[in-house]
Amino acid sequence: MQFECDISAAHGYTSLPQRARVLSEKWFQDNSYCLSCDSDRLLRTASNTKASDFVCQTCNENYELKTFRTMPVRTLVDGAYAALMSRIKSESAPTLMLLERNDDWQIQGLTAIHHLFLTPSVIGKRKPLSPTARRAGWVGCNIRLDLIAQDAQIYVVHKRIANSPKIVRESFQRFNRLKNIELNSRGWATLTLRIVRSLNQQTFSINEVYAKEYEFAALYPENNNIRAKVRQQLQVLRDLGFLEFSGRGSYKLLI
Ligand SMILES: [Zn+2]
Repeated sequence: MQFECDISAAHGYTSLPQRARVLSEKWFQDNSYCLSCDSDRLLRTASNTKASDFVCQTCNENYELKTFRTMPVRTLVDGAYAALMSRIKSESAPTLMLLERNDDWQIQGLTAIHHLFLTPSVIGKRKPLSPTARRAGWVGCNIRLDLIAQDAQIYVVHKRIANSPKIVRESFQRFNRLKNIELNSRGWATLTLRIVRSLNQQTFSINEVYAKEYEFAALYPENNNIRAKVRQQLQVLRDLGFLEFSGRGSYKLLI
């Protein structure tokens, strides 16, 4: 894997956003691979000219490339709210590929965010653009990275070191099993996984999860029986092989 972008690829482009787009797409095209199958090639999708979208022709996994000089921690500004929600609801949300580069166009990191963790509860609506704006009334969205379980973030390149594709693919594919849960329930399951991870313990009790009830309530204020829902979600995570029940209200994380 090369860490230098090919600056000559942007020859002839004068605007900075265009140069940035051409260089990052060229690097990604030359160095990326599918995380969901063994294909070593991703293709730029010609149909969408607004987002940097790529697709694997073997398994149809979609990717959206975003490039940063400083990686966002809490919030990722994305495009139109309605468009992303529609992709999430039709189960075609892209896996996000966050590319970090420095001023000299050397790649510092590449982090994937698994698309199955993009559920409606982690997408925030932004204020509509003001009536005087060129696109008055247009509504964008924020992807709330702080509401997504750490598991969703998979390092392909971290601090200028490329992880082995085998390990990256294993890390990614172990969450493909979330596909078996319908979207509404998946929001709860991934939230439960995030809360369980936040306990920082391999074994934990149901009461420790109940103690975080307010975090569930913050995202699902309309739910009046959070504890029953939490118990159900722990069963879902157990059935998916993420944890096991070890008796007397205690659980053990398996992955
Ligand atoms: Zn693939």
